[in-house]
Amino acid sequence: MARIVDLDEAAALLAAGAVVAIPTETVYGLAADATNEAALRQVFALKGRPLGNPLIVHLPDAIAAQDWANGTGDPAVTALLARFWPGPLTVVLPARPTVLPLVTAGSGQVALRVPAHPLARALLARFGGALCAPSANRSGYVSPTCAAHVLADYPDHDLAVLDGGDCPGGIESTIVRPLGDTLQILRPGAVDLATLRGHWPGPVLAAEPGALPVPGSSPRHYAPRTPVLLVGRDRLAEAGPTDAVLAIAPAPTGLDAADLRTLPADPAGYGQVLYATLRELDRAGHGRLLVQRPPAGEAWLAIANRLERAAHPERLP
Ligand code: AMP
Ligand code: MG
Repeated sequence: MARIVDLDEAAALLAAGAVVAIPTETVYGLAADATNEAALRQVFALKGRPLGNPLIVHLPDAIAAQDWANGTGDPAVTALLARFWPGPLTVVLPARPTVLPLVTAGSGQVALRVPAHPLARALLARFGGALCAPSANRSGYVSPTCAAHVLADYPDHDLAVLDGGDCPGGIESTIVRPLGDTLQILRPGAVDLATLRGHWPGPVLAAEPGALPVPGSSPRHYAPRTPVLLVGRDRLAEAGPTDAVLAIAPAPTGLDAADLRTLPADPAGYGQVLYATLRELDRAGHGRLLVQRPPAGEAWLAIANRLERAAHPERLP
């Protein structure tokens, strides 16, 4: 059975090479010492994560990034980090040779982030090192945004959980890679493209599909067990009495569905409650979940990306 621990115990467990689930401003992570290979292997084993899927390194501040990556001194990169750290932006840079291959999946590139959540920051300060902390869900499932989600995902494990309440963001970090003048978006997320453009001198471009063959970008991910159909608003009426519907405000009327949830019509508000709503609906065991397709456009890019993957027809293992 997973159990709740306090900050002191969490830091002591991490120092002893154990895994601790921690809150961040995006989602909960499964944290382990980023320099301890045995501890990191436990993270992969617990999540059922393929070993070829690299891990994001969580740091106390931008100065610590110099120990992990080259290129942090580039003026455009320095300015980017100064603007967005602490915060939900992950930056992929050439890795220092000392970074464990398990962290980079042997790619020679390391993903770095300085979380903003006060408990994550306090833990990093107390621990005194760097933590890998992939989202604390079982691999492929919906990310957890509160301690109860984490506890539910690991019923058979003695997993320590640092409870920070609900995550304020609710959607994973945006992952970017500086490539010459260009800032490549590897995963849309909490920081939107319009905001990034204001703080990067060159082009800010979505990566070509397949530019980075890492499993985190596999087509099915973030997915409930209930089959998800992503449809236009006019097709929500196809939901039958055994189906659930996830709509965008205002609430549709006249539906025959077993459950109707209506989420806010702004991407930030929607993202905050999306995973909790998906998990709740999934637990109810509906026949299908009909999800209203979000509006086109960059502001909804991260949400659309998560919903498309949740709706991918490939079956969960
Ligand atoms: P999460 O499980 O939410 O922490 O997401 C981790 C994801 O970050 C991975 O699945 C990759 O897509 C991405 N990532 C982590 N490390 C790297 C890296 N070194 N290079 C490129 N992408 C990375
Ligand atoms: Mg994840």
